[in-house]
Amino acid sequence: MATGDFHLHSTASDGVHSPSWVVERAAANGVRVLALTDHDTTDGLAEAAGMAARLGLRLIPGVEISTEVGKADVHLLGYGFDPAGRRLQEFFRWQREGRLARVEKIVAILRDHGMPLETSRIFEIAGEATVGRPHVARALLEKGYVSSVQEAFDRWLGNGKPADVNREKLDPKDAIEIIHDHGGVVFVAHPIYIGDNYVDVVRHLKDLGANGIETYYKHYPPETVAFHAGLAAELDMAKSGGSDYHGLGNPDDRDIGDIPFADRDVDAFVRFIEANCRCSAVEG
Ligand code: AMP
Ligand code: ZN
Ligand code: FE
Ligand code: FE
Repeated sequence: MATGDFHLHSTASDGVHSPSWVVERAAANGVRVLALTDHDTTDGLAEAAGMAARLGLRLIPGVEISTEVGKADVHLLGYGFDPAGRRLQEFFRWQREGRLARVEKIVAILRDHGMPLETSRIFEIAGEATVGRPHVARALLEKGYVSSVQEAFDRWLGNGKPADVNREKLDPKDAIEIIHDHGGVVFVAHPIYIGDNYVDVVRHLKDLGANGIETYYKHYPPETVAFHAGLAAELDMAKSGGSDYHGLGNPDDRDIGDIPFADRDVDAFVRFIEANCRCSAVEG
């Protein structure tokens, strides 16, 4: 188990468990420092920070933002920014509105494929959270159109599948700029998911100002970690790691902290945040 995990989701976006639960689980697994990185929202941070303070863990401000380069989905992780920034919160709100419009489009496609869903039910499943494809997957499961969340992705919602609708394109440049403007740094999430050309895309992101690479990620084998570490060194970028825990129980999911994230790299990440960010811990 790693002592740090910097890619975690909660019910503030599309995770299954509350921010407090995520922090408690992290502590139980031996994690001492973590970042909650919900999609397009920092709404879970206050609750997470309260639990982190109670359990003696350190919480670094975090968020995950979806952008596009060409046809490729590029997810960015922001850390260490000032969550109170008004312009930052407006930006997140605008991103969340784009997600609402996307759900309407996904529902229309599924209806055309003989699977009517109530949009209102999907929003109900999402609750206060940033709505995403996992909520649609749960609605499909509930109606019996699929027999698991994974099947919903494999047949309908996954990248390139019939009901995979992209949101209005967000240029990574804009996401990087707003995080930087608020005193934070930006890491490229799960680079392999970007596609076969990901090394070129990472170079491009570095040119746009990205600060680091998510070097350790749930199931990455040692050779992948070594390759990412080499790329980070070559491009003079920092290294991070995270489980991308959602609590969904998909086959290749990992528990919180269950990533082969070397202690010295956990410590180096924390020092990097302290040296370069305006807000290196959320007070509980
Ligand atoms: P969204 O933010 O709506 O694009 O949804 C992204 C989330 O959907 C990811 O964080 C994963 O939890 C989940 N997801 C995306 N693709 C897949 C897939 N092929 N299989 C299972 N889950 C997926
Ligand atoms: Zn997610
Ligand atoms: Fe992601
Ligand atoms: Fe994620």
